[in-house]
Amino acid sequence: HEHVVVAGGGQSGAQLVSSLRDEGFDGRVTLVCAEPEAPYQRPPLSKGYLSGTESDAALPLRAEHFYADHDVRVLPGQRVCGVDGHARRVQLADGGLLDYTHLVLATGARNRALAIPGADLDGVLSLRDLGDARELRKRLAQADRIAVIGAGFIGLEVASVARQLGTRVLLLEAADRPMSRAVSAPTAEWFAAAHRRAGVELHHGCQVGELLGRSGTVTGLRTRQGAEYRADLVLMAVGVRPNDEIAAQADLAVSDGIVVDEYLATGDPAVSAIGDCTRFPSRFAAGPVRLESVQNAVDQARCLARRLVGKPQPYAALPWFWSHQGGNKLTIAGLADHADRFVTRGDPATGKFSVWCFRGRRLLAAESVNRPAEHMAARRLLTAGRNPTPEQAADLDFDLKHHAA
Ligand code: FAD
Repeated sequence: HEHVVVAGGGQSGAQLVSSLRDEGFDGRVTLVCAEPEAPYQRPPLSKGYLSGTESDAALPLRAEHFYADHDVRVLPGQRVCGVDGHARRVQLADGGLLDYTHLVLATGARNRALAIPGADLDGVLSLRDLGDARELRKRLAQADRIAVIGAGFIGLEVASVARQLGTRVLLLEAADRPMSRAVSAPTAEWFAAAHRRAGVELHHGCQVGELLGRSGTVTGLRTRQGAEYRADLVLMAVGVRPNDEIAAQADLAVSDGIVVDEYLATGDPAVSAIGDCTRFPSRFAAGPVRLESVQNAVDQARCLARRLVGKPQPYAALPWFWSHQGGNKLTIAGLADHADRFVTRGDPATGKFSVWCFRGRRLLAAESVNRPAEHMAARRLLTAGRNPTPEQAADLDFDLKHHAA
């Protein structure tokens, strides 16, 4: 009898079990969830849930009865802590064993910690799961000044929410601009200015060297450059590391992520991996990539579910992403990593524009700020491999939607 065991009940694990049933899979399905809650969405944790506009009820990915209705066995608060690929059996944290015919690693990622003095002081937080979000929400309500370390998406989103709540915000970034790994310079600079206008004190090019405290509680920080700042709450938002250890222990290839092929298969035909924990080949990138997005988690899960019911297709979905920062909506289609030419469409001063990223004359990505229709057009263009010229992309009179159709 077939038995699919899924390690990890996050965005990709939850999607996989539901897609398996949608595809007509009638074997056993077990979802091993390290967290105590049934699978929920993470994006609101740094947005509406943190600001208080979204409640707990809005978080679950599926209704409570969904799993029972679809004959999915959920093991909350349980982890897969070892894989025996020869026996096709996983070991659970409580000592239990589960035999599988197929194992799916959907273990996600965890926050990277900065190994600096003071990192263990009370009031130093990070944000990945619901427990973290509840703690941050509670502390934010009492804080006078939060120092956010790292101006990536999560750092910027939390900074925006904190400003909305009236908290003073210090935001420190080691690179020379926010979101430096993910977006082009024009987009990053526009957001830097928007956050400053909202009252965020943003400093680039500074590395935090030490967190300062009194009686075990954080009171501020010192940068490597020698500046000192006061803060009664600190959020470390310096990126994530993939949860790939159980794969490595099972002798599967890992390289900052579990290495899979275009079918999301590992070197063991009975083990696949999906979501934030994977490194995979993408036709939209120069080399194998690891992505952290809802789109990637969901689309990889759907792709794998189809393979597991005998309809294999390479994973070829277009990467896209969104981030909401203080009323501004950033949407990204494609991957701009190796772009060398950027054209702006629309006037950034109006707060509505997009940046089209090319390599030579080949379109790689588009970043849209408060321009949802252009984002949708970019998704269609990139998926279809239709390539407006840089001149067309910059020309507001050129109808991109029509070109995409
Ligand atoms: P996860 O959702 O992280 O799920 C992995 C699960 O596996 C976790 O519950 C983990 O505890 C569990 N686990 C780990 N190891 C084991 C084990 N050995 N056994 C059992 N269980 C295990 N993406 C966007 O596209 N847009 C956004 O606006 C956005 N905002 C975000 C805001 C926040 C605060 C965060 C944290 C993420 C955000 N993301 C956003 C990213 C998005 O949520 C992730 O890319 C997505 O959740 C990845 O899904 P996943 O299933 O790979 O991993």
